[in-house]
Amino acid sequence: MVNFLIFGPPGSGKGTQSVRLAEKFNLIHLSTGDMLRAEITAGTELGKKMSLIMSKGELVPDEVVIEMIAYKIDNSKGSAGFLFDGFPRTVAQTIALEKMLNVRGMKIDSMLVLDVDHDELVKRLIARAELSGRPDDKDPAVIENRIDVYKEKTEPIINYCREKGIYQPVKGMGTIEDIFKRLADQMKELI
Ligand code: ADP
Repeated sequence: MVNFLIFGPPGSGKGTQSVRLAEKFNLIHLSTGDMLRAEITAGTELGKKMSLIMSKGELVPDEVVIEMIAYKIDNSKGSAGFLFDGFPRTVAQTIALEKMLNVRGMKIDSMLVLDVDHDELVKRLIARAELSGRPDDKDPAVIENRIDVYKEKTEPIINYCREKGIYQPVKGMGTIEDIFKRLADQMKELI
């Protein structure tokens, strides 16, 4: 199994690229954002609790997403590996993921980080709001907060992974196709 993190600020294209990359390389795409939104849509108690946090652009508690991911890892079979999208988002989540993988004889093999200019992120998220209907995409103040939360809580994971030698920066500007090719080329080296 080869396991990838796809990483980058909100609006960097993680979700769009993950769906295509998972298909191309037979990976299981695990997006904590999608899982949390599914809880909200299903009207579960967890979804109700998390929706306020998400609508403000804050992070949900580490233990919530760690538990979701652990369940998925144990209930997904028959793939070449996992593609983690939007998880981990804190160093604590990263350490938890490493442990989870290690006890199952796996590791994080690569962290692909999409690099996108700030103005482009805001533009993409505002455009996406029209299609997604996501409340956290509609409000410019929430978008800015998500970018700030990324810088403060999520970006430190880059240094953590750099020290482990698995950090791979990828230019995230250009067409969806161009970015896909750049990511796929990096991934091919490991698969
Ligand atoms: P984006 O990358 O556009 O911000 P996501 O779909 O990955 O969107 O996440 C949407 C929201 O879900 C986040 O702003 C956060 O509130 C919550 N969330 C998703 N994944 C995590 C995570 N790993 N840890 C904490 N909160 C998360």
